[in-house]
Amino acid sequence: MTMIDIEEEQIGGVNTSECPLSASSTTVESEESMNGDIPSALEAEELQLALNKEATEEELLKAITRCKNLVLETKNCSVERKWLVRHLIELRLRLEECREAAADPEHPRNKSSGVSKRTIKGHHLILQPLLRSTTSRYCDHCTSTIWCLVQAWYECQDCTYSCHYKCMSFILRECAHVVTSERGAFEMEICPEVGLSAQRYKCAECKVNLELKKGYNEPKRCDYNGLYYCSGCHWNSLAIIPARVVHNWDFTPRAVCQASLQQLKVASNRPIINLEGLNPKLFNFVHELNLFRRLRNDLYGMRKYLLVCRIANEDHILWKGVDIPHLLETTNLYSLQDLMDVHSGEIFIKMQTWIDAFTKHIKVDCEICKGRGHICEICSNDQALYPFESNSFTCDECKAVFHKTCFNRKNQCPKCIRLKVRDDLMKEEEYCDDEL
Ligand SMILES: [Zn+2]
Ligand SMILES: [Zn+2]
Ligand SMILES: [Zn+2]
Ligand SMILES: [Zn+2]
Ligand SMILES: [Zn+2]
Ligand SMILES: [Zn+2]
Repeated sequence: MTMIDIEEEQIGGVNTSECPLSASSTTVESEESMNGDIPSALEAEELQLALNKEATEEELLKAITRCKNLVLETKNCSVERKWLVRHLIELRLRLEECREAAADPEHPRNKSSGVSKRTIKGHHLILQPLLRSTTSRYCDHCTSTIWCLVQAWYECQDCTYSCHYKCMSFILRECAHVVTSERGAFEMEICPEVGLSAQRYKCAECKVNLELKKGYNEPKRCDYNGLYYCSGCHWNSLAIIPARVVHNWDFTPRAVCQASLQQLKVASNRPIINLEGLNPKLFNFVHELNLFRRLRNDLYGMRKYLLVCRIANEDHILWKGVDIPHLLETTNLYSLQDLMDVHSGEIFIKMQTWIDAFTKHIKVDCEICKGRGHICEICSNDQALYPFESNSFTCDECKAVFHKTCFNRKNQCPKCIRLKVRDDLMKEEEYCDDEL
C-alpha cells in the first residue's frame, strides 16, 4: 500500500482538493473529532519544528519521511493515525509552498519581499497569519479547503472573501462591499429570474457552461438575484431575502450564490430599506412592526430633547449603549438586521432599555429637560407633559401639547382658537384705522 492509498483510505474527506459542495458529513465529523489533544507521537520535536518555524526544504523532507513511518506504526482508523495523516498533508503542503516561494519573489513566505496586502477587484486582501483553525475554511475562488496552518491565504477586510495566495490573481468576484455601496439598495423584486437561455447557459459569475442534467455542473438558481450559477460559485448557502421580508414578511432562508451571500452580509446592518415607501400595508398586518414604529417615534422625540440639553451632551446620554444609531437618527429607514430583530423580538428589549434611560434623564434627573415640559392648557394639571409620551397629543398647527383625552374631549386646540381671535381683532383694528 502506498502512502497516497493510506491517505485516501484513512482520512476520508480530509483531502486537499475538497470542494465544500462535495464535502460529506463524514468529513465534517472527522475534522471535528480531531479537535482533541494532539497524540504524543506528534509532539516529536522534528515534526513540530517543521511546522512552527521557517523550515527549509531539506528539514521538511526529513519530517515527511519520519511522519510517514509514524503513520505506518499506528493502528488502522485510530485517532492518532488521523492526526498523523493530517499532519502529513500539512507538511506536504508546506513543502509545496516552500518550493513555490523559492520560484516566486512575491510569495508571502519571502518575508522581505512577500506581499502582505493587495487590492484586487475592489477587495482589500490582507495576508492571514498561519494558525490552526477549528472551523473549515474554503477558498472563494477554487472552492478547496484552505489549510490555514500551512498555506498562505488572504482575506478581504471589507467583505471576508478568502482565497489561497495562488488563487489571488484569478479572482473574478467584485468585492461585495464595493458592489453594495455602488448599488445603495437591495434587490426588491422577489427572485427576478431572466432564465437560462438569456444567460446563454453560462454561470452568471465565472461563465462556465452549465449542463442541464443533474450533476456537478447543473445550474443552481440564486434566490436573491434570480441568476443561475455553477457549483463553484453557488454553494447552496442559505440567506434571508430582503425582498421576501419586505413584501411577504417571510424570513425563510433561501439558497443563494456566494456573491449574493457576501453582499447580503455586508449590507445587512445598513439602514437602506424604506419600508413605508416599499410596502406601507405591512404595518397593518404585522403587529410587532407597528409597535416598533411607535417606540422608534418615541425615541426620536426624546432625542430632540437630549440633543439640545447641555448636561445630556456632557454625559453622552444619547449614544451611551445605543449600538444602532440609525434608529435614533431617522424614523423611516430600516436595515435588514432591524427587521430580523423585530421578527425575533430581540430589538424590543434594547429599545426599552434606551427609552428607560432617556425618560429618567428627561423627567427625573435633569432640571433643564424638566423645565422644557409642557402644561396641558385644557385641564391645567401642573404635571409636565412631553410630546413623546403616548398619552400626549401635539397640535399640528401651533405645536402645543395636551393630554390626548383632554384634546379628544374638546376636539379643538384652545391655543389655536386664542391665536385666531387675536388675529381677527388685529385685522378689525387695521380695518378701522383704514376707515378713519
Ligand atoms: Zn484557492
Ligand atoms: Zn472584498
Ligand atoms: Zn461559476
Ligand atoms: Zn437634560
Ligand atoms: Zn389635560
Ligand atoms: Zn394649536
